[in-house]
Amino acid sequence: MSAKGDMFYAWTKVDGIQGECGGAVTSILKYLLDEKVVDAVLTVQKGQDLYDPTPVVITDSADLAKSAGSLHCGTLLLPKLIKKYLDGARDMKIAVTCKGCDAKAMYELAKRNQINMDNIVMIGLNCGGSVSPIVARKMIAEKYGINPNDVVKEEIDKGQFIVITKDGEHKGIKIDELEEEGLGRRKNCQRCETKIPRQCDIVCGNWGVIGDKAGKATFVEVCSEKGAAVFDGAVKAGVIETCAPEAKGLEIRAKIEKTMINMGKKGQEEQFGALGEGTERLQYIMAETSRCIKCYGCIEACPICYCVECSTKKPHLVKPGILPPDFMFQMIRFAHIADSCVNCGQCSDVCPMNIENSLFMHAQQVELEKMFGHTPGQDMELPVLAFAEEADERARLNATGSDMIFENVFGEQ
Ligand code: FAD
Ligand code: SF4
Ligand code: SF4
Ligand code: SF4
Ligand code: SF4
Repeated sequence: MSAKGDMFYAWTKVDGIQGECGGAVTSILKYLLDEKVVDAVLTVQKGQDLYDPTPVVITDSADLAKSAGSLHCGTLLLPKLIKKYLDGARDMKIAVTCKGCDAKAMYELAKRNQINMDNIVMIGLNCGGSVSPIVARKMIAEKYGINPNDVVKEEIDKGQFIVITKDGEHKGIKIDELEEEGLGRRKNCQRCETKIPRQCDIVCGNWGVIGDKAGKATFVEVCSEKGAAVFDGAVKAGVIETCAPEAKGLEIRAKIEKTMINMGKKGQEEQFGALGEGTERLQYIMAETSRCIKCYGCIEACPICYCVECSTKKPHLVKPGILPPDFMFQMIRFAHIADSCVNCGQCSDVCPMNIENSLFMHAQQVELEKMFGHTPGQDMELPVLAFAEEADERARLNATGSDMIFENVFGEQ
């Protein structure tokens, strides 16, 4: 019997499952479907090509083998799909694979009662980062000198982004080198500190798998009682085999996690530093967001934005028919969600005007975290704004006249 905090190496015992690192994750998902622990699995599989990771809902475990393997060239976030298209798992039990940003978005939606966690099994994936499909194609063509359409597999190993072509050619370039040239992982991934998402029920990855199991097994950490039941069930059903991790492997995994977290902190320092501070930062954000065409893409994609009546569509707040929209459009988003931003990068990925919404929001979130000590996506603690007494706040605004701080400071608008 396993318990929260236990760690294992695990690999598949099922014929026909070719996983990224031994196939334990796909096998556990198979167990969950076959034993009817869940009604469906929400995960990711190759679409048109490997630059097109596609979300997929699987209800027949025979279809799972197609979804095995890791796809790094994509920008997906799964929890909002559960909220939008699967009724927030209200009446359906769903197992979902979660990178760190997925796990954090799941918690933020759950604490707002938009996802029913009782019906969710979170299978976590360690995450060193993902690459935008556009950047991936560009860098493979320009830096690797390889036609992106000839690539049959990509992987991230020992700090390198490696591509393998249909002719069997392997080529790897250091991620640091790629990122110095503005290529490599998405910018939000370069700022990310959630490398082993222990918010999940179990969390799986290749860090720490050494010796003869390297590349052939997954390192599993059990993170909840539900996770222990899932893991034990999969072992009992005979879909995975396990052994204790090597002591050196534990050390290596801990060391890599620490290094990656420090890299995330450094990424934040550099990227936030480049925004300037105070008024200078605000002016920079105003200038950048002045390209906005009010397509609402950032709102549609953001896991924290789900309101039926979005304030940005209210004419008394944002005048209709004017482009770019008043800066109030951006201010509304900052005011409503900055304390809960999970740095998933979605609002930057979808922006047709290449506005770095995620960078601006994450920078603001970190400032709010310093002030109020609330870390979004970490646990089920409510965000700071949830504690504002609306009636008191309205009375205060009525008594003091205006809350248009922005208008007062800049004398415009
Ligand atoms: P498999 O049996 O191959 O199953 C993998 C599951 O992950 C499948 O269900 C698949 O659909 C799903 N999946 C694939 N791509 C995505 C995606 N983009 N988002 C959500 N689900 C997805 N491990 C580390 O130790 N260090 C890392 O730096 C690291 N980076 C990763 C980055 C990404 C983007 C991903 C997706 C995974 C990463 N992993 C990392 C985890 C590792 O690659 C393996 O997924 C893990 O070891 C499980 O291997 P497996 O053979 O048991 O999984
Ligand atoms: Fe992975 Fe973090 Fe990037 Fe999400 S934001 S894909 S968890 S590195
Ligand atoms: Fe993700 Fe952007 Fe929303 Fe933050 S503001 S949670 S980065 S979509
Ligand atoms: Fe809701 Fe505000 Fe997001 Fe609009 S911007 S969806 S009102 S949180
Ligand atoms: Fe404006 Fe970009 Fe958001 Fe569209 S996605 S509303 S252009 S900031």
